[in-house]
Amino acid sequence: QVGEPSQLKALDKFENAADTDYADRAKRDRIQSALKSVRQQFGQTYLPLINGEFVETAEKLKSENPSRFSETVGTIGLISVDQAEDAIASAKAAFPAWKRTSAQERAHILRKAANLFEQRREELIAWMTYEVGKPVKEGDGEVSEAIDFCNYYADEMERLDRGVDYDFPGETNHYRYHARGIVLVISPWNFPLAIPVGMTVAALVTGNCALLKPAETSSVIAAKIAEILVEAGIPAGVFQFIPGKGHTVGAHLVKHPDVHMIVFTGSQAVGCQIYKDAAVLQPGQKHLKRVVAEMGGKNAVIIDESADLDQAVQGVVQSAFGYSGQKCSACSKAIVLEPVYETFLSRLVEATRSLNIGEAELPGTKVGPVIDKEAQNRIQKFIEWGERAGTLVLKMPVPEGGYFVGPTIITDVSADAKIVQEEIFGPVLAVMRASSFQEALDLANGTPYALTGGLYSRTPSHIEQAQADFEVGNLYINRGITGAIVARQPFGGFKLSGVGSKAGGVDYLLQFLEPRVVTENV
Ligand code: NAP
Repeated sequence: QVGEPSQLKALDKFENAADTDYADRAKRDRIQSALKSVRQQFGQTYLPLINGEFVETAEKLKSENPSRFSETVGTIGLISVDQAEDAIASAKAAFPAWKRTSAQERAHILRKAANLFEQRREELIAWMTYEVGKPVKEGDGEVSEAIDFCNYYADEMERLDRGVDYDFPGETNHYRYHARGIVLVISPWNFPLAIPVGMTVAALVTGNCALLKPAETSSVIAAKIAEILVEAGIPAGVFQFIPGKGHTVGAHLVKHPDVHMIVFTGSQAVGCQIYKDAAVLQPGQKHLKRVVAEMGGKNAVIIDESADLDQAVQGVVQSAFGYSGQKCSACSKAIVLEPVYETFLSRLVEATRSLNIGEAELPGTKVGPVIDKEAQNRIQKFIEWGERAGTLVLKMPVPEGGYFVGPTIITDVSADAKIVQEEIFGPVLAVMRASSFQEALDLANGTPYALTGGLYSRTPSHIEQAQADFEVGNLYINRGITGAIVARQPFGGFKLSGVGSKAGGVDYLLQFLEPRVVTENV
């Protein structure tokens, strides 16, 4: 039997998890009681999981609620470099049995984890609301994405496991995929559930041992992931949860000679450092490390003179200010063709003014806090630079007691201004004017990033030109530019937005596998 080539996966077989319909009163009540019950669990301590045991640590960190920074959500034990060494030793010991565990069995564990994520949907949303200030609806979509990653990568592994046979008379040729070894997963805080789950389960289902080092500010949610993976049946040593400091323990593990692969999502600066460090052959290291690095974006939406402005305003507001602009896919530049510039801008300002800013747990909140004090200060700095370089058109007032930054719109900035070139990762939007469609594309492409982009247009030639020339990994036409769905919009960028193939797509698992060919003369 000849195996299917990877490109021929019948995507219509895959079913995405459904988001919650909050129009249903009973579902609204369920999330409210989950928020209450999770609040009662504040202040617990979460420890690292090494070789199947929760281990004490010398260093601890308090994770705070960014909506109300006087509240501690939980305390996290941070591993030391010695404990990182223990984790590596356990992973090495667990690898031989795990790589021989059948793909079906591994896939079964992922499907079980998917069911557990579904069962704990409301509780997980509540943890995200409190620990990273994510409004409920956004958290709901994230739980769906985590479930999709588990189910999709389970299907994908079963497909890849069939391999490909190139048989000839008198000769068999078996092309088969093998696990690489130890995978270090380093995740960001902004998608604290879906991103670490996706990277970790991809490593596990392909037969690798995974060490998950989450971002410090989202370690409580990561501890919930660990609970679920253990309950789903991942054996000791195969998966380990190793919260710790990125620049010490994280950097140590990146350079470790026994790590085979690093799967990172985070900022460009850290991603580039990891790429460089991982390339250095360490004493005793007998392989080259593979690095998958998903990094930042500086994403533009172009609005041309034929655009449906109602659609464009709504899409830009949602893409720029949803989760306070803290998405790698967020829109931070709206580039508007001259004839519709003034109309678009005034409608955009009006629509933005209607956004509710407040604590993430409140039902009406559209814009919650940013992650921490450091982020708040950094974003304020960008706003000050923006004010000096251009015109501040809108800066909304914010409540006290949390790390809030009001949605901000700045115009009249040049193509090389800091707020046009650098990722801000906050609710700050530059609106720029273009006199031709080509100029709009040049402005959109004029940064080192290439992650997401959007176009609102009803002009076929513009749509065609954007498909060819807009330098982004994910281009969205006549819709918002955030919210990619597994197996529908595989996600990821290029240029300095990242290296590796797209999460939630047909090529993703191949990165975790080493193909081998066995030829037999029969
Ligand atoms: P970050 O500061 O780069 O941190 C990401 C992770 O790297 C954290 O776990 C961090 O640990 C760790 N780390 C820091 N320094 C390290 C080092 N020297 N060696 C090894 N690990 C290290 O990013 P973030 O603030 O968490 O996340 C926001 C960024 O992620 C944005 O730039 C956003 O665009 C990007 N992002 C990209 C995608 C995508 O798919 N392309 C998706 C989501 C987010 P500590 O927390 O301990 O510092």
